[in-house]
Amino acid sequence: MTDASQQDKLRQHFARRVTTQARVLLEIWQKYRNSGDTPQNLREDLQKASEKLIRYARRFDMTSHAEAGERLRSVLESWPESEALDAQTRDDIQAGMDQLSRCTLRRSDQEEEEPPRTYLRTPIYLAFNDGDYAQRIIRQMEFFGFRAAAINSTEELIEECNRQKPETIVIDVDFGEGDGPTGIDTIETIQEKHETPIPILYISESDGSIETRLRAVRSGGEEFFYRALDPGQLIEKIESYSYVNPAEPYKVLAVDDSRAQAKYMENVLEKAGMRSRVLTDPMEVINALEDFSPEIIILDMYMPGCTGMEIAKVIRQQDQLHSVPIIYLSAEEDVSKQLHAMSMGGDDFLTKPIDPKHLIATLHNRGRRARSLLALMIRDSLTGLYNHTHSLHLLENEIGRARQHGHALTYAMLDIDYFKKVNDTYGHPIGDRVLRSLSLFLKQRLRKTDHIGRYGGEEFAIILPETTLSDARNVMNEIREKFSELQQPAAGTDFTVTFSCGLAAWEGESPQELCEKADRVLYEAKKAGRNRVNVAE
Ligand code: GH3
Ligand code: MG
Ligand code: MG
Repeated sequence: MTDASQQDKLRQHFARRVTTQARVLLEIWQKYRNSGDTPQNLREDLQKASEKLIRYARRFDMTSHAEAGERLRSVLESWPESEALDAQTRDDIQAGMDQLSRCTLRRSDQEEEEPPRTYLRTPIYLAFNDGDYAQRIIRQMEFFGFRAAAINSTEELIEECNRQKPETIVIDVDFGEGDGPTGIDTIETIQEKHETPIPILYISESDGSIETRLRAVRSGGEEFFYRALDPGQLIEKIESYSYVNPAEPYKVLAVDDSRAQAKYMENVLEKAGMRSRVLTDPMEVINALEDFSPEIIILDMYMPGCTGMEIAKVIRQQDQLHSVPIIYLSAEEDVSKQLHAMSMGGDDFLTKPIDPKHLIATLHNRGRRARSLLALMIRDSLTGLYNHTHSLHLLENEIGRARQHGHALTYAMLDIDYFKKVNDTYGHPIGDRVLRSLSLFLKQRLRKTDHIGRYGGEEFAIILPETTLSDARNVMNEIREKFSELQQPAAGTDFTVTFSCGLAAWEGESPQELCEKADRVLYEAKKAGRNRVNVAE
C-alpha cells in the first residue's frame, strides 16, 4: 500500500468518527423533536455530544463539522441551567442542527458511502407468508431510507412489537398458522397494548367478506389491498403512513401586549410542538412577518397603540400574506364586534380565557387548510414538488438572497434519460411511478433548504442555496449513481432508469439566463452519452 493511499484510508477512518458523532447529536435532537416534551437532561446531553463533536472534528480537520459544533455550543451556553427551553433558543439550536446535518449530508470526497438521512426511524414490519416477496420489498425500501424488517411468525411479531412500537405494519390477512384471518387476530392482540394504534396495511388474496373488512378497519387497518401488489405501489402507501418526511411544525406568530398572556401562549404553542414567535409590541409585527414568515397569526384584539384589526389590515395589504390565517384572541364577547373583527380579514375568533386544547385544535385546522390551499397553488399534483411557476419564484428569491449575502448558489436541471422508452415499454402509469420515485429520492437526499421543482414532463429543477458548483456536483453525482441502481418495479420484471443533469453556478445573471445556462449544460450531458452530471464552465 502506498503512503498516499494509507493516509487516505486513515482519513476515511477518522472522518467516520466525526460523522458518527454528528449523527449522535442529531439523533438526540430529533428524538426530542419527535417526542414533544423536554427531557430533564436534554441540555447536558446536547452539550456533551457537541463538545465531543468539536474535539473530534478539530482533531481530524473537519472544519465545517467543527463550526457547526461550535455554533451549537454557544447557543447551549446561552441556555441557562435549570430553565425551560424557550422558543428562541430552540430555533437557534434547530438552525445549528440544520447546519450540522448539511455538512453531514455534504460529505467530502474522502469519506465512504453512508446510508441516506435516516437519523432515527422506528422500523416498519413486514409480516408476509411469502418471505421472498418481503425481502424484495425490503431491498427497495432501503433505497428510500426506510428501516424495514421481515417478520416470520406470529410470536416474533408480538415480541418485536413489545420491544419497539413500529411505524407501520404491513401484514397478510392470513399471516401465521391456522385458517381464516389469523393476521387480524394477531394485530388485535398487539393493538391492545398501545394507546394510539399502529397504522396497519392489510394484504389479502381475496377481497374479503364485509365481516373481515370491518374487523380489519377496527384493528387499525388503514388500507386493505386484495390484489397482488407491486412493490412500487406498496412503498408509496407505506411512505404516506410513516413519517419519513415528517410534517414540519406549524410556524405561529402571536401578538399580545400582556406579558403574562404572551408567556402563557408561548408555553402552550411550545408544548404542542409548534414553532412560535410571540410579540408583546405590535409595532414589531412587520419585521417578524419578514424574517419568521409565519403560517398562522394570532392577534390580541385590544392593544395599546393599535388594535388587532388594524394589524390584520396591514397584513392583508401584502399580497403574499393573503392566505395566512389570522385568529383573533380577545375577552370580547359581543358577537357583533366579533363579526366586525372577522370582516377585517380574520378567520377565527377565540375568546379568553382560552382552553389550550381548543386553541391548538383551531391552529391545527387552520394550518392544515392553509397548507393544502397553498399546495394547490404551488405544487405539482403528481409528485408534490414545486411547480414550474413557483420554482422560478423561488429561484428569484434565492438569487436575491445570494446577492445580498454574497453566497454561492447553484442551479441544477435534470432530465430522465430515454423516458419515452419507459412509457412505451411499461406503460404510462409505470412512467408516472418512476417520476414519483425520483421525486421522493431527491426529497430524501437533498437538504431541507434546497428547493426541488418539477419543471415539466420528466424535467426537474433544483436550487441549491449556499452551495458551490463543485459541492453540487458531488451531491448530484452521488444521487445520480444511487438512483441508477434503484430497481424500478414493473409487472414481472424490474428495470432501472438514469438521468442527466446540468449544473450552473449563479454569477450575477437573471433567473432566466441561469436556467438557460443550466439547460445548455444538460443538453451537452445528453449529447455526451447521458447518465452524467455536467458543469457549466
Ligand atoms: P432523452 O434521454 O433525450 O431525454 O429522451 P427522452 O425519451 O427522455 O425524452 P423525450 O423528451 O423525447 O420524451 C419525454 C417523454 O416523457 C415524452 C412524454 O410522453 C413523457 N412524459 C412527460 N410527462 C410525463 C408524465 O407526466 N408521465 C409520464 N408517464 N410520461 C411523461
Ligand atoms: Mg428525457
Ligand atoms: Mg425532456
